[in-house]
Amino acid sequence: MLNSPQTAYNGAATQGRIFLIMTDSAKLPKIVILGTGGTIVSSGDDPLMLTGYRIKGLNVETLLCAVPELQYFARIEAHQIANIDSSSMTFSIWLELGRAIEKAAADPDTAGIVVTHGTDTMEETAWFTHLTAKTQKPIVFTGAMRPATALSADGPLNLLNAVRIAADPKAAGRGVLVALNDVILSARDAMKISPTNAAAFGPNVQGPLGLIAGAEILWLGLSVLRRPFPFPSLLPWRFLASTSFTLMLTTTA
Ligand code: ASP
Repeated sequence: MLNSPQTAYNGAATQGRIFLIMTDSAKLPKIVILGTGGTIVSSGDDPLMLTGYRIKGLNVETLLCAVPELQYFARIEAHQIANIDSSSMTFSIWLELGRAIEKAAADPDTAGIVVTHGTDTMEETAWFTHLTAKTQKPIVFTGAMRPATALSADGPLNLLNAVRIAADPKAAGRGVLVALNDVILSARDAMKISPTNAAAFGPNVQGPLGLIAGAEILWLGLSVLRRPFPFPSLLPWRFLASTSFTLMLTTTA
């Protein structure tokens, strides 16, 4: 039997770290959410403002407050890595995110990791993470196409589903996943195919790895094996900016 939705936050964002600790939830898997910004934490002037919105006062903490149902599926620990429109994503944030993922994954108590990210460059960050993360634990990228203030905002359910996927032992070992609008894609294959539709991501070639169907997560396929690159100590800045790195991103794994 599930507890009634009572969400306890032990404080607001403190030193970039937020905890969401649920009563009687010790049996639930621990999922670490790493927030980087994007439409999922953006605000418009009114519920019909579906373009031209901005990141204003919202962040990963307000996202958690919007989805108290997370407590039914996981113990959540959330960190704010950045709070930017993903068109402003930088190599520096990629590295910080990579370190945060490695740190979270190294904790034996962590079952999986969710990254919230703007959709403009989600496929690039997810691909970088797919190439560099060493852990076999699930890493799920999600975001939204409608701002948090929109009529029928898609962010809350996308986040809930991403947490459910990250908490599913069957998600392990599949490489980085991109999950929005009930579809689970490999980061190897995820491509943004619409600038406005909630079904913004499609597979380039191989089709979805899985689907959310109501209360079920249906796994359909496997990702090919990853060959993680050394990270972060052996990835110097000049190499990141180099043509060979760009080529490597486009030709390997
Ligand atoms: N401009 C936003 C971003 O990439 C778009 C989105 O999240 O859907 O941050």
